[in-house]
Amino acid sequence: MGRLIAVANQKGGVGKSTTAVNLSAALALGGSHVLLVDLDPQAHSTSGIGVAKAAVGVSIYDVLINGLSMTSALMPAPVKGLDLAPGSIHLAGAEVELVSLPRREFRLRESLKPVLDWYDLIFVDCPPSLGMLTVNALVAANEVLIPIQCEYYALEGLSQLMESVNLIRRKLNPDLRIGGVLLTMFDARTNLAEQVAAEIRRHFPNEVFQTVIPRSVRLAEAPSFGQPVVTYDPTSRGAEAYVALAREVSARAGQPVVAE
Ligand code: ATP
Ligand code: MG
Repeated sequence: MGRLIAVANQKGGVGKSTTAVNLSAALALGGSHVLLVDLDPQAHSTSGIGVAKAAVGVSIYDVLINGLSMTSALMPAPVKGLDLAPGSIHLAGAEVELVSLPRREFRLRESLKPVLDWYDLIFVDCPPSLGMLTVNALVAANEVLIPIQCEYYALEGLSQLMESVNLIRRKLNPDLRIGGVLLTMFDARTNLAEQVAAEIRRHFPNEVFQTVIPRSVRLAEAPSFGQPVVTYDPTSRGAEAYVALAREVSARAGQPVVAE
C-alpha cells in the first residue's frame, strides 16, 4: 500500500512544489515507485517535473470533477520510476465546483484507491489555500508534510493549518499524521534564518526534519529547464539536500525505499 503524503501550507511560495517535485524525483531515482499528484491550478509540479501543458490529456481536474479514472490521467514523468497525475488551470474552478458534488471531500481519496498498491509513495502538491482541493488532499493522505520558509512571518498562518489538520483528523480522516515540518530556503548567511529556524524547532520539536533545504539558485532555475534539481545538477547543494530528505522520509516510515 503506497504511503500518501500531502505537501501543504496555505502560505504561498514556501517551497511546496519544489519539495513535491524534488522529493518525488529523489525517491524515484533511489529505486522507489512514486506518483506525483499535482493539485494546484498553477500546475507548477507538472511543468517542474518536465511535462508541458500541451502534453497533458486527462488532468486531475477531469478525475475530481468529471469522474474520469485516475488511471486515465497517469502519465510517465521524465524520471524513471516516477508517474505524474497532472494538474491544470481548470483546477481553479474546481474549488467552487467541488462544493456541490457528492462526497466532495473524498473525491481524491476515492479516485486514488485503485492505484494505491502500484506505488511505494504518493505525493500530492497542494495549492496555497485551505480550500476544497487541500481538504481533498488531507482526507486522502496518511501524512502531511509542511514546508516552512525560513523568513520573517514564517509561523504566521500555521495555527490555522494545524486547526484544519485537527478538524480533518476528527471528522474525516482519523489516521492523518504530521509527517514532518521542512525548513526551506534557509540562508545560512543571515541571523534571521537561524532565528526563524530555532523558533520553528521550538514549536515543532519532534516534527522538524533534520535536513534543511538551503536557498539555492540551482533549485530556483531547475524548473525553467523542466527538470528536478536532482537530475539538472545532482551535485548542487539543493540536490544533495533533497536526496538527504528522501532518506529521512524513507527512514521515518521504516521503509527501505532509498538506495545508496
Ligand atoms: P505556491 O504556494 O505558489 O504553490 P510553493 O509553496 O509551491 O508556491 P515553490 O513554487 O516551490 O513554492 O517556490 C516558490 C519560489 O521559490 C519558486 O520560484 C521556486 O523556484 C523558489 N524556490 C523554492 N525553493 C527554493 C530554494 N530552496 N532556494 C531558492 N529558491 C527556491
Ligand atoms: Mg506550488
